[in-house]
Amino acid sequence: MKKNPEIEPISPEIRLNVLKKASWAGIIGNLLLSALKITAGLVSSSLAVVGDGIDSLSDVVTSMVTLYAAKAGAAPPDPEHPWGHGRAETIATKTLSLVIIMAGLQLLTMTVRKITGAEISNIPGKFALLASGISIIGKSALAAYKFHAGRITESQMMHADAINMRNDILLSFVVLTGVFFTRILNLPILDIAAGFAVSIWIIISGIRVFLHTNTELMDSIDDKNVYCHVFQAAEMIQGISNPHRVRIRGLNSLYVIDMDVEVDGNLSVSEAHSLACSLEVEIRNRINKVYDIMVHIEPAGVPDHLEGYGLVPDDIRRNRSNSNK
Ligand SMILES: [Zn+2]
Ligand SMILES: [Zn+2]
Repeated sequence: MKKNPEIEPISPEIRLNVLKKASWAGIIGNLLLSALKITAGLVSSSLAVVGDGIDSLSDVVTSMVTLYAAKAGAAPPDPEHPWGHGRAETIATKTLSLVIIMAGLQLLTMTVRKITGAEISNIPGKFALLASGISIIGKSALAAYKFHAGRITESQMMHADAINMRNDILLSFVVLTGVFFTRILNLPILDIAAGFAVSIWIIISGIRVFLHTNTELMDSIDDKNVYCHVFQAAEMIQGISNPHRVRIRGLNSLYVIDMDVEVDGNLSVSEAHSLACSLEVEIRNRINKVYDIMVHIEPAGVPDHLEGYGLVPDDIRRNRSNSNK
């Protein structure tokens, strides 16, 4: 999920509220679906449906994780965590990616067991089929709700849990179509092919979430345009030149910006400080989602400390011409 620097961010209070509601919907919805499927599975002695019900219990847990992480992430900074607690969501997203990969591996194992004949798709009773149908509808609603919540809060974590819900719909479909392919069409090969395709797809979706959280954990950002906005802002301020050592990190949906600029060495401290402040205002005008900006001022033309990292405008230009090739 990409951040769009131009979208107006919602307030932290509203964001937390949306995340809390979506998490509670996941907890209650999955509890109900789980109870329904376990009961239906037991009554019509369909182990696949009981298993599906137990899987929904694990989704109660993932929704509890998103609830806890959303609350923890919104807590104000404290002496232990002066940057705030935003990365709590990133940790939760990483955890969810592993849950998704595990679900895919589980289906893969089940499919392999079918090939070796260790697992057979039994025809579930009517009650179990009905429960699976209701579950698919319920999970679709939950997934759609969570995708929506993830989009408006720009929460990778909620997006990951939405993917988790969507995968459950696929899993239920595989159980249902498996019965159809095996017992009615008498083509078990289709059941196995569907099992493989869906499990690989789920594993890939989990790996993608896993890799995407690395961007933030490695202090990088997806959208290099944010750098352009920063350099353009520096160009706009009279008296500021040579923006360099610019480093932008993602913190959930926000950006943390550190940069060096040069000013006339004969300016007074308060003049230089007010230039730095105008630059910060200009950057915030161009990028809505700024968590923090730190501007380091240097006298123009005087070489500074060792500066082995951070970007200059040329890095972005080079990057762009490379990607245009
Ligand atoms: Zn410098
Ligand atoms: Zn200041």
